[in-house]
Amino acid sequence: MGLKIACIGAGYVGGPTMAMIALKCPEIEVVVVDINEARIAAWNTDKLPIYEPGLLEVVQTARGRNLFFSTDVNKHVGEADIVFVSVNTPTKTRGVGAGKAADLTYWEGAARVIASVSTKSKIIVEKSTVPVKTADAIEKVLRRNCTDPNVQFEILSNPEFLAEGTAIEDLTMPDRVLIGGKDTESGRAAIATLASVYEHWVPKDRILCTNLWSAELSKLTANAMLAQRISSVNSISALCEATGADVQQVSRAIGTDSRIGSKFLNASVGFGGSCFQKDILNLVYICETVGLAEVANYWQQVILMNDYQKQRFVERVISAMFNTIKQKKIAVYGFAFKKDTGDTRETPAIDVCRGLMADGANLCVYDPQVEASQIYQDLGTEKFEWDHPSPRSRPIAKSAIDIAMDPVSAANGAHGICIMTEWDEFKHYDYEALYESMVKPAFIFDGRNILDHAKLREIGFIVYALGKPLDP
Ligand code: NAD
Repeated sequence: MGLKIACIGAGYVGGPTMAMIALKCPEIEVVVVDINEARIAAWNTDKLPIYEPGLLEVVQTARGRNLFFSTDVNKHVGEADIVFVSVNTPTKTRGVGAGKAADLTYWEGAARVIASVSTKSKIIVEKSTVPVKTADAIEKVLRRNCTDPNVQFEILSNPEFLAEGTAIEDLTMPDRVLIGGKDTESGRAAIATLASVYEHWVPKDRILCTNLWSAELSKLTANAMLAQRISSVNSISALCEATGADVQQVSRAIGTDSRIGSKFLNASVGFGGSCFQKDILNLVYICETVGLAEVANYWQQVILMNDYQKQRFVERVISAMFNTIKQKKIAVYGFAFKKDTGDTRETPAIDVCRGLMADGANLCVYDPQVEASQIYQDLGTEKFEWDHPSPRSRPIAKSAIDIAMDPVSAANGAHGICIMTEWDEFKHYDYEALYESMVKPAFIFDGRNILDHAKLREIGFIVYALGKPLDP
């Protein structure tokens, strides 16, 4: 075997990215380590801890050959030539910068472990999304905690651009691989070493090399721009509803302009996932700390618009259903933040469900990938225990939530169906049969604009679709 790679953090990024490197580079030993024993145990079975199309096949090919999952962090980090750090970098929940700044506790912890177990020089790769200038801080932690004077650390920024749900596709043919490093002899050598790993399958012209700070900031900027695009089209969806324009027609019309492009122009109930909001808040915080209040305010609007869209959706459901949803059963189709993942972090479904429950609705949620226990946990309560105080700010009325194992029982006896996730299977249900089983008038609120609204209206549904006129 040649190089040895260790990756700290076996999550949505560490797992798939390392599996891809191991698949494409059979001569490199790749060990993914994590302190979460259950997660590592799951990576060593065929019931992987995350759902991602195509991932199991990649893992099965490389696992046991040159891909390993272990809880022995010290051993594998100590032996590695390259250490990727792919730990979580959530938003700080208390203290200075609470609610905005990135919490680098896990990153700093990982750096201290690296420093304490290293007996040979290493390349340290920032895979997590971190604030610009993090490499500076990490370098200090590494240098001051490593007792062996012969050990050198070269830090690179190699942010990950994969999207959940398409991770394997994105990793197989990335738009680009970004590597930031220092413009010194050792910095250039480290960049070349990391680039040589990716060159096993990524065309050279897709490997971009920049300075450290540009690479760190590019990741935050990419997520901010993607989220901004969603908020922009969502703002227009509100205007469409007020004026009679159709947001899908507007998106198609503007998307054909090559300067704008057609991707990421679907109006929806809002963006979710663990990254967009967290990374924008992080960007806002960085701007504030360097005295750029106007720039901070500019990016803050992207989040405000996202919150507004979720709230608007809830208000539309309530007003369409004659301003009362108390004790009405409403089916919620989809809870994951997007299709082809079971991830519910920051999913818009949480705020929408809580908004509907606050008005007294009885929800019945169906998602093809999300476990019932996860949904109860996300909604801040156990089943039927609504008297308990909620960890979120919005008050919850005494209400009920149930989880269905199939779409038919979710809709049975319901007054309405809310589409929260764009799962393909939702397009192919027998809506005539669902309609028959529902209370009339039966409503569909399409939070993703994925259904055939004309056909649904023919069946008898009253349809609300984002950015389109409401049924009379
Ligand atoms: P995750 O929470 O799924 O995984 C992080 C893992 O790190 C956890 O399993 C945790 O136990 C482990 N960990 C934390 N500290 C550790 C330590 N000291 N030693 C060993 N293991 C430790 O997070 P994720 O979704 O994989 O995201 C990781 C990073 O990548 C974040 O910075 C995120 O912003 C970024 N990112 C995420 C995505 C995405 O789609 N999820 C995409 C691009 C970038």
